[in-house]
Amino acid sequence: MPAEPEPLIVPRAEHKVSRSNISQNALKVLYRLRDAGHAACLVGGGVRDLLLGHEPKDFDVATDATPEDVRQVFRNCRLIGRRFRLAHVFFGPEIIEVATFRASAIPAGQDGTDADTVRAENGMILRDNVYGSIAEDALRRDFTVNALYYNIADFSLVDYVGGLADLRAGRLKLIGDDVEARYREDPVRMLRAARFACKLGFMIDPACEAPLPALAPLLAEVPAARLFEEVLKLFHAGYGLHAFEKLRHYGLFAHLFPATDACLQQEDQDFPNVFVSRGLDSTDQRVLAGKSVVPPFLFGVLLWEPVRLRYQALLDSGAAWADAMALASHEVASEQQRHVAIPKRFGMPMREIWSLQPRLERRQGRRPMALLGHPRFRAAYDFLLLRAEAGEVDPELAEWWTRFQDANPTDRAKMTGAGKKRRPRRRRKPKSAGSGSGGPGGDTGTEGAAVMHGRAGSGGDD
Ligand code: ATP
Ligand code: MG
Repeated sequence: MPAEPEPLIVPRAEHKVSRSNISQNALKVLYRLRDAGHAACLVGGGVRDLLLGHEPKDFDVATDATPEDVRQVFRNCRLIGRRFRLAHVFFGPEIIEVATFRASAIPAGQDGTDADTVRAENGMILRDNVYGSIAEDALRRDFTVNALYYNIADFSLVDYVGGLADLRAGRLKLIGDDVEARYREDPVRMLRAARFACKLGFMIDPACEAPLPALAPLLAEVPAARLFEEVLKLFHAGYGLHAFEKLRHYGLFAHLFPATDACLQQEDQDFPNVFVSRGLDSTDQRVLAGKSVVPPFLFGVLLWEPVRLRYQALLDSGAAWADAMALASHEVASEQQRHVAIPKRFGMPMREIWSLQPRLERRQGRRPMALLGHPRFRAAYDFLLLRAEAGEVDPELAEWWTRFQDANPTDRAKMTGAGKKRRPRRRRKPKSAGSGSGGPGGDTGTEGAAVMHGRAGSGGDD
């Protein structure tokens, strides 16, 4: 067995990680493990972010205690995970994740020798529960800057992989020499490379950057539910627009959202489509302002281009607008599930935001009042504002809705013509308010079609 590498140890006096910036609960976990005779360190993003002067998102602990040992020490503890067995220690809403030092996975091709490491034929690690030393634990992490340990025994920093030097240089570097094998083991590391480059403002080491476009198809092998979580991390953290541009640059976006990417490829040749960028930018602004952001809106934005084009094609082939939108939404959302699985509780409201778009284009009569009461009205209105900003609908429509929401009942009646006695429109079947997006619409769809068709003022590709 090769000798363990010697770590670089930076004593407390020579680094700026201070206990005053570490969560009280994480400290409690570290002290309790130490007092029970175990090695215990803060590791990963928490240490990295403290060194960079950022506020860590969460604090992860690594220890030589097994998950069962950890459970002996903490009553408020639950063991989770199959792929990685972990202990979660609960303090009200805060969870401190405690992981046992793990050995690097058994090299590809030698599996079958240890039931605790399970690899797929392509080298992907499916289960990885071989415990090891802290040195081994460092080597199996993803990037050098993510493998720094803050040791509670003497408050020193422990660096086995050159992470401190890379942190100073602003460089994201995968641990180990065989970059391609590290991506194959876990293709999500490609997304993490793009994400940390944006989050930290780091450059990706050229050797780690070069294989990304060629290896991007490996994302197809990652479970679609895991990719959902990764997409949220990419686009709900305040740097979504930047992440989107990076992912497209490396050809990774096409493997997360193939239908959207195909639309954007086409549009790029004429003039850049700004809808997705605008939507991500506005999400970033909300995150940075501390406002809430929700997955249905995000995925609504990310998938709107294919929905819009499919909707238009169906209208052109004579479908009624409500049918066309229902079908386009269904097709695009179902196809997307194969790549990034959107849980049902988010998929339903996402489709509602879309289905309200053509309804927002119908301003006469009692429909607008009914729409105001729709649970998804606000999100659909925000979505409409984005479409207007992106030049896809007449901004006057969005302004109308802005005024309509603030107007008093008399003005609302004037705006919709609802107060006037209208001439009976005999050719249309009467339809109850609020049932618009359901079945075949009584509307001819011409008003909606005109607004939905291409971008307002674009000269029209229709
Ligand atoms: P943040 O929480 O700010 O997104 P992080 O670095 O803490 O960043 P986590 O996903 O919380 O990221 O993971 C914690 C640590 O676990 C990482 O810093 C890294 O050391 C290790 N890790 C996470 N995912 C992987 C992976 N796919 N391959 C190898 N190591 C990983
Ligand atoms: Mg973390």
